[in-house]
Amino acid sequence: MTQPASAVRLRDVTFRWKRGPRALDIAMLDIAAGERVFVHGPSGCGKSTLLALVAGVLSPTTGDMQVLGQSLSGMTSGGRDRFRAEHLGVIFQTFNLLPFLSITDNVRLGYDFSHQRRARVTAAQGGAEGAIARLLAQLGLAPDMRGRAVSALSIGQQQRVAVARALIGGPDLVIADEPTSALDAGARDRFLDLLLGECDAAGSTLLFVSHDLGLAEHFDRSIDLAQLNHASARDEDMACM
Ligand code: ADP
Ligand code: MG
Repeated sequence: MTQPASAVRLRDVTFRWKRGPRALDIAMLDIAAGERVFVHGPSGCGKSTLLALVAGVLSPTTGDMQVLGQSLSGMTSGGRDRFRAEHLGVIFQTFNLLPFLSITDNVRLGYDFSHQRRARVTAAQGGAEGAIARLLAQLGLAPDMRGRAVSALSIGQQQRVAVARALIGGPDLVIADEPTSALDAGARDRFLDLLLGECDAAGSTLLFVSHDLGLAEHFDRSIDLAQLNHASARDEDMACM
């Protein structure tokens, strides 16, 4: 699809967990298509909640939320699942890999449910297998490992599989929740180079969350969520512990 000018647009969005305080209250947030945005803030200030809303995993309690020009607020949860599969690449904090599938099969899940992403990998040099092999090689996963079940991998290796699954087929929007927390400094820099390079090549918008402020310089813009989120300012002692 043609990318709209705005990749993410929130207006007066609030989110409250069933039994908790209000976790998010954001008057306005706009992320342009192709922009690479770094979101930071202390633990508990709502970073993962914001990403879950943008990914359509959660739905706002109130307010208007648009992603890639489409209103998520008006979609059913099944509709949001299909929208996410088609357009988003998500690196979850806990990876969410399928443990008994191989590395290659986990990466394939990144485009299997997306017409657009499948078309891109099929058109790539060497077809889908070539696209997977190239990405895994860039991430330092050796060819002889690719048939191995991901449950047999180290945490660092599992994370690289999760990254390959999110990036394969150049999704319109890539969302990453603390993806560098398990990496040492050298691996972290290589990882960021790869992530930013792949997003550039595909024209993907990138929304990247971390509490590590040292990473901010690699991005077009950084957002301090503790400032933006009025819920965390008001409920500071509860929300930002
Ligand atoms: P961060 O990612 O910045 O550490 P989160 O978005 O995970 O913060 O959490 C924001 C707030 O929502 C916190 O107060 C947290 O305790 C609360 N919260 C997170 N997940 C849940 C949940 N599943 N149920 C209830 N409250 C939650
Ligand atoms: Mg979090």
